Amino acid sequence: MLPDEAPGSVAWLQAIVDALCDLSSKDALSGLVNRRSFEMALAREADRVARAGEPALLLMLDIDHFKAVNDNHGHQAGDQVIRAVAQAVVQAVRPMDLVARVGGEEFAIILPNCATHVGVLVAERVRERVSQLAIEVSPGQVLGVTVSLGGAFAPPWVRSSPLLWTERADRQLYRAKAEGRNRACLEPQVDSLVSAEEKGMLFASPILEMQQDLP
Ligand code: GH3
Ligand code: MG
Ligand code: MG
Repeated sequence: MLPDEAPGSVAWLQAIVDALCDLSSKDALSGLVNRRSFEMALAREADRVARAGEPALLLMLDIDHFKAVNDNHGHQAGDQVIRAVAQAVVQAVRPMDLVARVGGEEFAIILPNCATHVGVLVAERVRERVSQLAIEVSPGQVLGVTVSLGGAFAPPWVRSSPLLWTERADRQLYRAKAEGRNRACLEPQVDSLVSAEEKGMLFASPILEMQQDLP
């Protein structure tokens, strides 16, 4: 759709640029951030955690038995369910958390600055909110769905990668599916054994240090 502003004006151009940005970063069905933007955000967060040592949680979420929704009620009903789940997830987390649609009926949530004991509560809140949905897919026909969640914290003070972080959260998601679905499984936390001195060394420049050692 063309913007309302006068064609050729700065406001008109800005509206077109904004619309193009939205197209490249958002998922059209749910309005959430798409996989591409999610991957960029995750890389930034992994880097931030390594530098600041703050705990950050990645949750992967998959709708349970979603194929049955499509098979029994049609693809359009399936789309409605995806939109309703997306909305419920956004409402269950903080505005600073990033919710993305990363696959057909798969979502990811990046929770920066999330204490370990809070992570479990948030994952459970998301699961519960979705399970309470009553989605009207056609007049008089109301559906309910459940989700499984898997979560992993980024290892603080360690240079990891977005891919390894995602794989660890995915492993927990598979565990949640295998253990019966409609549940959240988080990777057990291991306390960091990195000393204060080692943390300081993580981003120090070896060349600078060598120069400082010179007489
Ligand atoms: P599980 O509990 O193991 O996750 O089972 P499932 O049935 O949810 O998993 P599966 O991966 O077999 O099914 C996912 C389905 O999602 C298959 C695909 O047709 C459907 N799907 C993918 N993208 C869309 C979409 O945009 N809209 C709709 N309506 N369906 C979609
Ligand atoms: Mg799936
Ligand atoms: Mg599924």
